[in-house]
This record gives sequence, C-alpha cells and structure tokens, in this order.
Amino acid sequence: MIQFSNVTKSFGEHFALDNIRLRVGRGELCFLCGPSGSGKSTIINMILGTEKPTEGNILVNNRNVPRLQGNALAEHLRHIGMVFQDYRLVDRLSAYDNIALVLRICGISNVKEIDRRIQAVAQLLGIRSLLGANVHRLSGGEKQRVAIARALVHHPPLLIADEPTGNLDPRQTQDIFRIFTKIQEMGTTVFVATHDLDMVHQSGRAAYVISGGVVRYVVSP
Ligand code: ADP
Ligand code: MG
Repeated sequence: MIQFSNVTKSFGEHFALDNIRLRVGRGELCFLCGPSGSGKSTIINMILGTEKPTEGNILVNNRNVPRLQGNALAEHLRHIGMVFQDYRLVDRLSAYDNIALVLRICGISNVKEIDRRIQAVAQLLGIRSLLGANVHRLSGGEKQRVAIARALVHHPPLLIADEPTGNLDPRQTQDIFRIFTKIQEMGTTVFVATHDLDMVHQSGRAAYVISGGVVRYVVSP
C-alpha cells in the first residue's frame, strides 16, 4: 500500500530525511515512531503528495505519488483518510455535520444515504450519543473519535494519523490506539505517526522507529 525506496528529502541545505526505505502492506497497521523533528510529518506529507522527495521513489495505492498533479492528486487524496493531532474539526458545527461535510464534498447528497453512513461509522467509533453535540463542547478524546469517524466515512482504503494522541491523556490515548486496531481488523490499512514508543511496543504491531531523518530500526509484529 505504501512503499518508499531510498527516499531523501532536503529543505535547502538541511537534510530532513536520509535514504528512507519503508513498506506497509495492504491491510496492515504500522506505526512511524520518533521524537519531535525526526521527520514523521515530512514522510506523511510525501505520502499525501503535498511534499516531493529530493530523491527516491514513493508508491502509494499503486500510484507514483511525486508525479501526481491537479485532478490526479485530488483523486489520490480522496483515497486517504487523514487524522491530525489538533483534530481540525469545524468548531461551530455538530459532530454529525462535521462528518456529513466529507460526504457532501465527495458528491453524496442523498440525505438517507448520508445518515446511513454516519450512523454506521458512529457505531464503530462509539460516538452515536455525541453526534448532536457541538464539537467545541467535546473532550479531546471525543473530538479525536469524531475526527477519525470523519476520516473513515467515505471508506478510504488507507487511514493516516499524524500524532493523533499528542493532546490526549493516557486513558484516551489507549482508547485511540484500540480504535486503530479495530479499524485495521475491519480491512483498512492504517499508518500512525507517534512519539509514544511505549504504546507502540505495547501494541505489538509493526513499527519504523526514526530519529534525525533516519530509520534506526524496524519492529516486526
Ligand atoms: P516531526 O513531524 O517528526 O516532528 P518534521 O517532519 O516536521 O518532524 O520535521 C523534520 C525536519 O525537517 C525538522 O528538522 C524540521 O525543522 C524540518 N522541516 C520540516 N518541514 C520543513 C520546511 N517546510 N522547511 C524547512 N525545514 C523543514
Ligand atoms: Mg510532526
């Protein structure tokens, strides 16, 4: 699903990533683990195609991502669900309307179909009772569950999260890690960047551990 071959990225004189090799198979859950500044977001931006490598090849979902432009890039992005540390929800809208927004952008306008899909994803994330609430009233853990529901509602084959538990307490963090496992078990490929090495080891899942833009070691599940 994701393959980096000898990827290097520099910003001017500064080497952010050096010779990155990485492979995430279809249907796998894989972590990208490293401290702040190690290059996690740069790797994710290159998966999305919003940042180009200086050298090397990147294949995602059988697409040669660095070559994508315009409509092809937009199409690529529609096949990825994205989750961020700061949730990026629309604060003045309800949880329901935040999730519905994605379906409308994807061209689904049938109200019954929208409702069917939102109820299904809300059931999965355990947020049915929160759907009517304005998102600014929710806790961090609840906001992140709404954000994951929004990322999944259009059924992307790949879910990517960039430090999704960076603002959460340990209990909420555990909850979110459990949700990623559940999503993977239902067939979605999941790739999660985090600095929480303990949680990654506890999960017993595959991980690439990076620092200073270099893969230091790989954890096999
Ligand atoms: P992480 O997400 O692991 O915290 P980043 O991928 O954001 O790390 O950053 C990796 C390195 O690349 C850092 O040294 C950062 O300062 C540098 N970097 C990231 N984006 C840019 C940019 N647009 N311009 C210059 N340097 C950048
Ligand atoms: Mg980052």
